[in-house]
Amino acid sequence: MTFTAAILVTGSEILMGRTTDTNSSFLARALDDHGVRVVRTLAVDDGEEAIVNGLRSLLALGVDLVITSGGLGPTHDDRTFAAVAAVVGHPLTLDREAFGVIDGIVAAFAAARGLDPAQFAAGNRKQATLPWGAAVLRPVGTAPGAIVAHGSSSIVVLPGPPVELTRMWADASRHPLLATILAAGAQPRRLVRIYGVPESRVGDVFAELGGDRAGTETTICASRSEVEVVIRHGHADGGAATSLVDGLRAAFGSAVFSEGPAPLEEIVLDALRTHGWTIATAESCTAGLVAARLADVPGCSDVLVGGVVAYANGVKEGLLGVSAGLIEREGAVSASCAEAMAIGVRDRLGADVGVSVTGIAGPDGGSDAKPVGLVYLHVVTPTGSRGIERRFHGPRENVRSWSVTAALHLVRLLARPE
Ligand code: AMP
Ligand code: MG
Repeated sequence: MTFTAAILVTGSEILMGRTTDTNSSFLARALDDHGVRVVRTLAVDDGEEAIVNGLRSLLALGVDLVITSGGLGPTHDDRTFAAVAAVVGHPLTLDREAFGVIDGIVAAFAAARGLDPAQFAAGNRKQATLPWGAAVLRPVGTAPGAIVAHGSSSIVVLPGPPVELTRMWADASRHPLLATILAAGAQPRRLVRIYGVPESRVGDVFAELGGDRAGTETTICASRSEVEVVIRHGHADGGAATSLVDGLRAAFGSAVFSEGPAPLEEIVLDALRTHGWTIATAESCTAGLVAARLADVPGCSDVLVGGVVAYANGVKEGLLGVSAGLIEREGAVSASCAEAMAIGVRDRLGADVGVSVTGIAGPDGGSDAKPVGLVYLHVVTPTGSRGIERRFHGPRENVRSWSVTAALHLVRLLARPE
């Protein structure tokens, strides 16, 4: 049996585009991990009527679970509990235990800042005023959440700040009231991640392989220059999924860089570790973003030595040893300069691997010979050396972020276990 859910995001700031809604994507993923199918996500403003109508329309879908985000603060425009109370037909009542918990949290906060706790009393009371009969979820900040049963559905009410919502969801998902709905676990799936191949080509190959088998349901999704193929399958259809994975691997070879969810930077670090290699970066147009991506991974320090942000020619020459003559002859954005930067940073920082990026991120600085988006990348390792030229399109941030991804993939290719 597959359970269903809907997500109600509240907040005028979301509808006005001032806040990016990350809560619904977090919740959708979390529900998917429990095998719950999200059938609708709806965003509404802070008005009580908007929230009431939103809740009613989602409950009318017959979903097992409605999860709300936001509107639990101490001020007049936080109205989610009032709306839930109206929808389930229960009065709003002060929950004394929740009130005590909030009072304690706020008293400590006030004491630490030398503030009079009395000024928060009304807000505390409001935040502890919940629909009668609700199961209270302990506050992460100062706002408690709640689970409210309504007919055959459960409404889970969570706060808006993403840190609070994610942590309270962890609590809510362990609550006995949700145990049956969340018991299933994720539907089995296989993942294939491909780099440097257009999404349409992946689609064509998928079709040539015969498309979905009985029991598989495949989605192909491109983001930046990576294509992610997700093959969901029934518990008894693992063989059908494997035949698709094998077909994709055979067609795309080393462009398939992972069958798991690990971020690229982690994959690159692990590949370097298999050789016992360290790495240093020399970055012009990406100005440290390659090193930063590697440093996103906890425990990277056994592999990442450091990097040089070599924006100015003087830094390329002085810190990396690129010759002034080379830059004069070929330009700072050139294959030879990229190679000299990679070799230079590897030598100067004493790493096993050097990776470099030099290019024209734009929007200015391009010419006919060297247009905006032209990027040279180079990697040197103890066993090989390879440079590539890329021409990226789009705004500055795209050129820079695609350059970072390209650099990481180039390292991955040269550090691939043979
Ligand atoms: P609220 O609980 O509605 O008062 O929300 C407090 C804050 O949480 C807002 O000002 C936003 O910064 C943040 N927030 C609310 N909803 C979302 C959401 N769907 N995604 C990301 N951040 C949110
Ligand atoms: Mg709000």
